[in-house]
Amino acid sequence: MRFEVTILGNSSATPVYDRNPTAQLLNHNEKFFLIDCGEGTQHRLLRYGIKYQRIDYIFISHLHGDHYYGLIGLLSSMSLNGRVKPIFIYAPAALESILAIQIEAGGTPFKYPIEFFAIPQNVSSVIFENESIVVETIVLQHRVPCTGFLFKEKSKSRKVLKDKVTSLAIPTAYISLLKRGIDYRDASGQVYAAYDLTSEPDAPRVYAYCSDTVCSESYLSQIEGVDLLYHEATFMHDMVERASLTFHTTAQQAGEIARKAKVKKLLIGHFSARYKDLTPLHLEAKCVFENTELAQEGMTFSI
Ligand SMILES: [Zn+2]
Ligand SMILES: [Zn+2]
Repeated sequence: MRFEVTILGNSSATPVYDRNPTAQLLNHNEKFFLIDCGEGTQHRLLRYGIKYQRIDYIFISHLHGDHYYGLIGLLSSMSLNGRVKPIFIYAPAALESILAIQIEAGGTPFKYPIEFFAIPQNVSSVIFENESIVVETIVLQHRVPCTGFLFKEKSKSRKVLKDKVTSLAIPTAYISLLKRGIDYRDASGQVYAAYDLTSEPDAPRVYAYCSDTVCSESYLSQIEGVDLLYHEATFMHDMVERASLTFHTTAQQAGEIARKAKVKKLLIGHFSARYKDLTPLHLEAKCVFENTELAQEGMTFSI
């Protein structure tokens, strides 16, 4: 089952050096989730050949412009290009009226409904759930209320051992029962244990998205052991004072968080416009947590 994230923007505050404000596209089993929507996100979706009408869910972490100024443009294009199915937006409450003003002023109501869900701001909560994934918020520490997102796969069913099932000619209708651990009984009464015909399921995977925040241990337990952690790393550590003043994290601190939380892999992004070359940020984080990668725009990371 596909579970991957494509980086659409990795810059903080302003677009610079071919880098753009924050946005990511998460694909879980061909369901598309947009995480933040900085200015120009729709251009990057076009550039990378991603059909934006396939996006049904949008999550906005907070209301600093570098995380949502691209939203009205994307929503407008969806309408102009004939969208009729609803879109579901999970965001701080104030965004609902901001969008309403923008849409009303345009004088052309959208052709599709927007289902808006206001994210509770001071407590972690489950905000989305379907048959295979749950999305829970992570309360971050920023200058304005801000939440990260934890995308957690649900437990999977056991995997059928095809050779055994085929050799016993078990009817197709019983396969889903075997996957759930229910034994198969044939016409003669012979019982075949589900555990002999299946293997352990793949472990559920987890993606954690943490932007923007000052370095904090308050959310450490929530991201413990995740398969992939995206964490902001706006500054190098020689600017740690500026980082804490502006409620951001340094590359070194992002590495420390990844190490303390024992995550499997760290992705850093949200880079300050002062850095043309990102290699020093990468090296700084890697010094603390080796399995770190830069969230380069256009790259897709498997989870
Ligand atoms: Zn930001
Ligand atoms: Zn911010």
